[in-house]
Amino acid sequence: MTRDTPGRLAPRATIGILGGGQLGRMTALAAAELGLRTLIYQPERDGPGFDVATETMTGAYDDEKKLAAFAARCDVVTYEFENVPAATVEFLDGIRPVRPGARMLSVSQDRLAEKTFMADLDIGTAPFWSIDSLKELEVAVLALGRPSVLKTRRFGYDGKGQVVIRPETALAEAYDAIGEAPAILEGFVPFTAEVSVIAARGIDGEFAAYDVCENIHRNHILWQTRVPATIRPETQQKAIDMARRIGDGLGAVGVFAVEMFLTREAGTETLIVNEIAPRVHNSGHWTIEGAETSQFEQHIRAIAGWPLGATARTGTGVTMENLIGDEVETWPDLLAEPGAHLHIYGKNERRPGRKMGHVTRIQRSGA
Ligand code: AMP
Repeated sequence: MTRDTPGRLAPRATIGILGGGQLGRMTALAAAELGLRTLIYQPERDGPGFDVATETMTGAYDDEKKLAAFAARCDVVTYEFENVPAATVEFLDGIRPVRPGARMLSVSQDRLAEKTFMADLDIGTAPFWSIDSLKELEVAVLALGRPSVLKTRRFGYDGKGQVVIRPETALAEAYDAIGEAPAILEGFVPFTAEVSVIAARGIDGEFAAYDVCENIHRNHILWQTRVPATIRPETQQKAIDMARRIGDGLGAVGVFAVEMFLTREAGTETLIVNEIAPRVHNSGHWTIEGAETSQFEQHIRAIAGWPLGATARTGTGVTMENLIGDEVETWPDLLAEPGAHLHIYGKNERRPGRKMGHVTRIQRSGA
């Protein structure tokens, strides 16, 4: 690559970020370290990202006048969450490059499109049926059996917009609980672990992935990520290969995450893709101190058209724990703990279930 590779930004260029939550915040911090400026745009007047971005703008995601003014001030645009309206990204992409692009966003926004895309790549997912009526749900439950999982196609996160169909579940109530929204029914996967791959793809197709992460959830919210995952080396390689094929298939530019279920049967490990996130991911926060290049810096490098950084771990093992709701109150103890890397997102309101910060611990020796 040369200094003037097409699409490559120079230091002092401005990265536009849609969304100013903790992901936007940590992305803006990483950009600043590389001499890049950030402009965060979001509908809310306040947010963790607003405290650290070079500049901020408040506006609706459908306010084309404001969006055009935003894009005019940026060299490239990215987003911190997948629920940005597709129309917003299409509109902005007509003015400045949006990375990752509209295809990555549209596929990852819709569980049906996502699963259909995986099937086309011959990548395993839970068996699924498209649901647009109660009648279709009844037929699909007969086909997939109980338990199975009813999920809205869009706008689901941290277990929201989904209902487990158990032997006793009344289907009309379950369908009502998801607001009778367009949905899919998934077969229940008896997984032994949940893992994720955090990967990056550059504008020229360069690919890099971190070690596979193992994720433990509590109340549907990520509680802890452990790296390396306790999986066989060949399973780790398969997971990374899947992520590479997904990134290539979607023409991704930037960091993305692939969440997977691991099943073990008769000594065989099988990976099933649950969902993809077209962005930096909570299960990649450990990379800030636990890898040579953090996922946030990696994302900035990728969307700036810069070479990707090394992804090697800095320790023999890494754990990242989210501080959810009141847990952030333990901050004085965490500050006193040698080697604990504390991150507080600066949210002005603490609520149960809300991610307020995280702490990362690195093991330097032994297993
Ligand atoms: P999701 O919103 O798709 O990430 O799902 C949230 C959580 O629900 C996952 O992390 C799993 O713990 C569980 N889950 C989702 N889909 C399934 C499935 N098909 N089978 C078993 N558990 C599931």
